[in-house]
Formats: sequence, structure tokens, C-alpha cells
Amino acid sequence: MLCLHRVVPRDGFSSIAENRSIELGVADLRWMLEWTRSRGLDAIPMDEVPARLEKPRGRKFVCFTFDDGYRDNLRLALPVFREFGVPFTVHVATRLTEGVASLWWYALERIVKGCDRFEFEWAGSRKAYDLDTPARREAAFVEMARLIRAQGRQTRDELVACLCGAAGIDPLEQARGLVMTWDEVRELAGDPLVTIGAHTAGHHTLNRLSENEARDELLGAKREIEAQLGREVKHLAYPFGGASAVGPREFRLAAECGFATAATTRCANLFSAHAQHRHALPRLTVSGNHDVRVLLPRLESGLIAARAFGGRRVITA
Ligand SMILES: [Zn+2]
Repeated sequence: MLCLHRVVPRDGFSSIAENRSIELGVADLRWMLEWTRSRGLDAIPMDEVPARLEKPRGRKFVCFTFDDGYRDNLRLALPVFREFGVPFTVHVATRLTEGVASLWWYALERIVKGCDRFEFEWAGSRKAYDLDTPARREAAFVEMARLIRAQGRQTRDELVACLCGAAGIDPLEQARGLVMTWDEVRELAGDPLVTIGAHTAGHHTLNRLSENEARDELLGAKREIEAQLGREVKHLAYPFGGASAVGPREFRLAAECGFATAATTRCANLFSAHAQHRHALPRLTVSGNHDVRVLLPRLESGLIAARAFGGRRVITA
């Protein structure tokens, strides 16, 4: 299973590494689909994944997934997937779709690129960053992003508002500019190649939330997307999705909320044993910081996952 986010034109890449890691060039996407075909891989929709894990048959399969619900998935990615007749899934975060949650990683990029020195006050202490070189901007981005990801449901929004207020920018501007509206999600969902999954409501770090808050994030998003699209939502992708954001409690909650599958961002390949771990499915992230022509064959071979997890094949918790 591949984990993608944005598809951007050749000159559309971010200058901040963390954001570039969720961007893929249109030409690279086309190359990936050509490569999938030339390798003889079965490109299957999410709905078929549980059955293929239960009863592996024939060729290796690949499943394309996108997180967050970016508008470029409709405008730039869909035409390429249509050209190849390959199915894909887009996991939508409902509060991003509604333009009421912040796409804070792009807001943060605007902050660190917008001035030479940035100061803000949070939790009683004053922080200051010199932003006059690319390395300092990267370091400040990484530090502030880590602080935001460590917050709970309410304090996350307070901190983002605090940062954006100090920089004099609107925290919601990026979400409204880059994320699909419900009308656009419906347009995308109208294509038979497309499955719409859930990516929670507010894109919070789930293990920082109480159990009730986390359940509300999962179930609220499922019900909202189902109401908006008039079809069942069976698949979930956890926000952030790494071991520092989700664990056994979230896997259990996803099952309890009725999702057939839930995907992490643990970087590993799928094996039949994952049929018993359908709410902790690993995905291979394709990052704009690497050449897909080198990266993809390595991901398929399992080399990267084997190195990361010491040869263990089934990566769950
Ligand atoms: Zn996400």
C-alpha cells in the first residue's frame, strides 16, 4: 500500500523538506503508474485489500492511497489515474474539507518564510527563532511542528492560532486554498476508480486525545462523509500514523467504529499475516525528497522496511 498526499506541477514543490515529503510531481505519478504496469503488479482498490490478505493469489498487488483530501488529487491526479485505469483511495479529514481546521504545516511554512525573525509566547514562555537562512527556517519548522503535533485537541488549535496570530496570517487560508470542498469530494467520488475513506475530523495526533475524543474524531468523520456522499465509508487512515501518533488503543477504536481497514504510516510491505491486523496496515510513503525511480523498486523489494524493522515482516504496533 502506497501513501501519497499531494500531486504538484514541476515548479510546485515546497522549499521546506517536511512539506516536500508529502508532495509528488505529476510526472513522477505517471512514472509510478507506468512502473506498476511494467512490473505486472495488480493495482487494486482498498475494498479488495482484506480479501487479498485473507486469500493471497497470483500476482503481487499495489494499492494507491492519498491522505488529507487535497484539491490536486481531483485536478492533477485523477486524470493520470484515468489514463491508466488504476483505482485509488482518498482519505478525507472532514474539518479540513469544511475549511474550519488548519492545514497548519503549510501555514507554518508561510510563517518561517515570511520574516527573518519570529517570536511568540506559549505556555508562559517566550520563544524566538532567527529565520535568515534556509537551515534555520528548516530547524524552526521542525521544532514548531513537533510542538504542534504534541498538543491535545483544544491546545493544538490554540497553539496554531497563537503562531498564526504572531505572524499576522489567517490559520485557515491554506486549508481553504489547497483542500477540496464537499462539492469537489463528491465530484471525485463520482469516478468509479475512486474510493473515499476517512482521515478523522480535525487531523489531530490521536494518542494525545482522550478515548472519547479519539472515538469522536473517527466516528464523526465516518458519519459525516457517509452523510455527504450517501455511501458507506469503510476505510480509515490515521493522521500522522507513525508509532508516535497511534497505537493499540487507536487500532481497537478503529475496529469498534466499524472500519474494515485502517492504515498507519509504518513503512512496510503487506503480507497475508496482516489479515489479522486490518486496523494497523502499514503503508509505504513516497516522498518528494527522493527520486521515485530509485525509491519505488527499493520499497517493492522490501529492502527499506527490512532495514527499518530489523527483518520483521509484520509490522503492527
Ligand atoms: Zn494527513
